[in-house]
Amino acid sequence: MTAIAAATADVVVVGGGIIGCAIVWQLAQRLPRTARIVLIDRGPIAGATSGSCMGHLMVTPDDAQEYAFSHASVQLWRELQDQQGGFDYNPTGALYLADDPADIALFANLQAQFVACGDRAEILDQQQLRELEPGLAHDLPGALFYPGDGVVLPMTACGAMLRAAQTAGPRVDVLPYTPLTSVLREGDRITGVVTPTGPISSPNIVLACGVWTPEVGALAGLPKLPIVPRAGNLAITAHHASPIRTQLLEISYLRFAHGAATVDPTLIGADQGGHAVNMQPQSLGGCLIGSTRQFRGMNRELNHELLHRALLRAARYAPGLLDLPIVRTWVGLRPFSLDKHPLIGPWPLLRGLWIAAGHEGLGISLAPITGQLIAQQMLGLPCSIDHRPYLPARVVA
Ligand SMILES: Cc1cc2nc3c(=O)[nH]c(=O)nc-3n(C[C@H](O)[C@H](O)[C@H](O)COP(=O)(O)OP(=O)(O)OC[C@H]3O[C@@H](n4cnc5c(N)ncnc54)[C@H](O)[C@@H]3O)c2cc1C
Repeated sequence: MTAIAAATADVVVVGGGIIGCAIVWQLAQRLPRTARIVLIDRGPIAGATSGSCMGHLMVTPDDAQEYAFSHASVQLWRELQDQQGGFDYNPTGALYLADDPADIALFANLQAQFVACGDRAEILDQQQLRELEPGLAHDLPGALFYPGDGVVLPMTACGAMLRAAQTAGPRVDVLPYTPLTSVLREGDRITGVVTPTGPISSPNIVLACGVWTPEVGALAGLPKLPIVPRAGNLAITAHHASPIRTQLLEISYLRFAHGAATVDPTLIGADQGGHAVNMQPQSLGGCLIGSTRQFRGMNRELNHELLHRALLRAARYAPGLLDLPIVRTWVGLRPFSLDKHPLIGPWPLLRGLWIAAGHEGLGISLAPITGQLIAQQMLGLPCSIDHRPYLPARVVA
């Protein structure tokens, strides 16, 4: 990935997180060999949220639309694994846990949602759970196992997507440490971007800047886009053998992570934050533990108290974690879209400007389908799923 000055391009993708990398990957598979794609990021590739998160590939059966969206994306992850590999893909499935017999009723609801989407999930009793995950607390009443989920290492996945793009046919230039500083336009049409190393002419610009998309959108004259940061604290244990093998999350995670915010997300200081346990085995051993959620602007300081509470909760499920040293803690900022759906598609008031942002806690899962929907819309191809719920036109006043 060398930095090559690029004066013209067919598409400039701004933002080298998982979303920008997936867009480059999917465009490169569809554009002719003569085309040129340029990816710019103001920092390193995967240096922001996509390098500060977990890597759960999650199928969400909330309704038929969300299921189709997430299921198609996880399938594309499998294709990237077959085609490219090199990003610690692990098809662990997911175990939804409860610590209270009263929560077992929630398993049946979630199982019914998967079945309604034409999929399957299995309710495990205490004994079956112990056979699958012997390291968990023995008094847990059971779990729901969904086999379709997996785990990846997101930073290396960004690299795998770019390698796949660079061997697909079109020319792909990756320019880290190259911020977009202004946008070139003629009337209602985009004509390029300006960076400190010079302008790049292009008829198509895609903004994939995560929590910074509103500020970068303002450079293009857009009104403030409805995306705000939602902080998450994480911890990882040393590379000892992890006490767990599967992606684990407590069943209440679904309510907590995907439910509407209980405070106004735009009011900094109003949110005390909360947590629901999410534990992920790592390929080199070790266990990644999250996750907390709190609206508090761009603040990336650790919330020690909130993280401590999440770790105690994790130890309730996997007591062996208490014996493992925590070697690193950090904070990532999820790009939370105020109506809970990401913005994916053209900006209707400025031809050639595209947006792909606002995936909150599911951006790793949803990156491949996001890239595919951008590529399909840009090239006038039929979309592989219904793309209309995600069109940015809905936020145009
Ligand atoms: C704690 C935590 C746990 C998570 N766990 C999961 C999980 O298990 N599964 C899942 O699916 N998702 C998870 N997520 C969500 C996921 O990480 C995000 O949705 C995703 O990483 C967002 O990717 P992005 O490419 O939109 O943003 P980013 O990765 O932030 O990329 C945006 C890029 O834009 C660049 N940029 C900004 N301004 C400019 C500019 N002016 N010029 C050029 N470049 C610019 C930035 O430098 C940055 O690299 C988690 C998130 C957090 C915080």
